[in-house]
Amino acid sequence: SSESNLIRATLFPGDGIGPEIAESVKQVFRTADVPIEWEEHYVGTEIDPRTQSFLTWESLESVRRNKVGLKGPMATPIGKGHRSLNLTLRKELNLYANVRPCYSLPGYKTKYDDVNLVTIRENTEGEYSGLEHQVVRGVVESLKIITRQASLRVAEYAFFYAKAHGRERVSAIHKANIMQKTDGLFLKCCREVAEKYPEIVYEEVVIDNCCMMLVKNPALFDVLVMPNLYGDIISDLCAGLIGGLGLTPSCNIGEGGVALAEAVHGSAPDIAGKNLANPTALLLSAVTMLRHLELHDKADRIQDAVLKTIAEGKYRTGDLGGKSKTTEFTKAICDHI
Ligand code: NAD
Repeated sequence: SSESNLIRATLFPGDGIGPEIAESVKQVFRTADVPIEWEEHYVGTEIDPRTQSFLTWESLESVRRNKVGLKGPMATPIGKGHRSLNLTLRKELNLYANVRPCYSLPGYKTKYDDVNLVTIRENTEGEYSGLEHQVVRGVVESLKIITRQASLRVAEYAFFYAKAHGRERVSAIHKANIMQKTDGLFLKCCREVAEKYPEIVYEEVVIDNCCMMLVKNPALFDVLVMPNLYGDIISDLCAGLIGGLGLTPSCNIGEGGVALAEAVHGSAPDIAGKNLANPTALLLSAVTMLRHLELHDKADRIQDAVLKTIAEGKYRTGDLGGKSKTTEFTKAICDHI
């Protein structure tokens, strides 16, 4: 591909194992001839007064300009006077939906072989609004905020995603029998959006029942959309169904069509710099980024190569019970491409 056809994307290699697994993604992308040019940004060593965070204003501008990016794990620096890195990203880029495709990896045995679902979590409000206070001694209060605007926005994205990815069903997860006003409004918004998508089946599932159904038979679900706290819990539950956070990709959708893909695991300081990290979650997150860009061809090739390498079992990193180095596992993936 010629220079002018390159798509610019922001890359935050991140901390700890971040640079090692980001290198793996770069190598796999080069091998698959993906038409992407990375704009790399590191977390700064000083607080940038413009963002009140260790994330520089330039790095945020880079994502806003490119509208697409990939983020490695970031270790939040300890100390006062700055905003957490993930909070800064979420607020500055208005990342309102967290999308986690969750599918069984053939060859990596868990209790389930037929998981193929996507969780879509509202990411800006609910119980995470930060409105907690003490009423009197011994009594505290936490406000759960649900707005029509944010609920419609995440519901719209869920149905858009379902249609774009050939999915058949959207399940709204709630507890509206108890949280009548808040979850009630969330459901009302989902119903309104569902009416615009008659080709997609819409259902509502109470969260407790949803948990039971997920562990009994995860194949019952397709796309799940839910308020913030339920999404936090259910998305980790679903990651557990397929083998854990080290394998689970995710992508954050923000205002104005921004997509920032990221692995859900942390910076793994215990194995950083030792060539032991598993790059799968970041690679599969990069695949979600390619799908967002509608580069399905490249996405399929990379995803197939990753899954084949894991299924063969010849090269696996320590977390999956193998002995391979990050670079050996990466080379095996490149060979499959
Ligand atoms: P962690 O996910 O970094 O590590 C938990 C365990 O999982 C460790 O034993 C680690 O070695 C292992 N592990 C994680 N990812 C792995 C991979 N790709 N390959 C092989 N093994 C892997 O969680 P933690 O120790 O609680 O957090 C460490 C740091 O990461 C903290 O500073 C935390 O703030 C940060 N963190 C960042 C993010 C993010 O940027 N999204 C998420 C979680 C934690």
